[in-house]
Amino acid sequence: MIAPINGIHHVTAISSDAQATFDFYTKILGLRFVKKTVNFDDPSVYHLYFGDVTGKPGTILTFFNWVLPDQKPGAGSIDSMAFSVPLHSISFWKKRLKKHEIFFGETNRFGESVLNFSDASGLSVELVGQESLFDTRPWNQSDVPVDHAIRGFAGVSLIPNDFGRTADFLEKVLLFAPHQKPESDMARFSSGNSFVDVKIQPDSRLARQGNGSIHHVAFRVKDADHQVRWREQLVKKKVNVTPAVERFYFKSIYFNEPGGALFEIATDSPGFLIDQSVEKLGKELTLPPWFESMRSQIEQSLPLLKTESKA
Ligand code: ZN
Repeated sequence: MIAPINGIHHVTAISSDAQATFDFYTKILGLRFVKKTVNFDDPSVYHLYFGDVTGKPGTILTFFNWVLPDQKPGAGSIDSMAFSVPLHSISFWKKRLKKHEIFFGETNRFGESVLNFSDASGLSVELVGQESLFDTRPWNQSDVPVDHAIRGFAGVSLIPNDFGRTADFLEKVLLFAPHQKPESDMARFSSGNSFVDVKIQPDSRLARQGNGSIHHVAFRVKDADHQVRWREQLVKKKVNVTPAVERFYFKSIYFNEPGGALFEIATDSPGFLIDQSVEKLGKELTLPPWFESMRSQIEQSLPLLKTESKA
């Protein structure tokens, strides 16, 4: 039998303002800036990576710095992303968000406390209070104490075009475990430490992708062999999946789930230490070998980004 997919690898979003995004995720949410590179399909724009100390799979949030009109929420999208924080840290985060004048809502979902708010581009972000399930190393050089720091991704929420088909796909194709008790407007599926919440919103208009959208969510497999097995599984189930694509820090395959959202399956290896030491992560522009000869043109086309966190 094929080894299961092991939860979320990374979440990739779109932001028109690289500086505001950098400041929000490093200075307010306390993530480490792990990698400054370019979109490998469009090297004229940044691809920025945030995460824990080493950018461990499950902690990685990435942004394509495309200048686009604001997104419109709706069906066929990944509607929000949720980070895990320790259960005892919810009151810390409420105070911190207030201090930074970030308006937030508070709710309870599947028995967990959830704070929800928007980032600098209007992207919907959640913090979920959880007993520690995460073997990650939060960044210790922000002013968020490590004891309260974000541990990694708790999950994502989808608004599908067709709830039934998405639910079936998650359970029967990706083999995610359905939560025993769906809530009135939502069902939960689990993979590794991660949840995928599927919202039931039958009358939603279609989402429009733009500034503040989540572009895709990637799920984890161990290595290229494990990915090949999952690709075969998807092909067998008639899913239109891409060949494996070389992303230098990992290998990826992509496909749309039937409700419209873009999914990826990415390998844990080789990871972000392939071209920088732990100390140097995020400190200079890194390029994959096939772009090195174009470095000076690429650098000239990118906007200024101030990444010194201790100014
Ligand atoms: Zn990706």
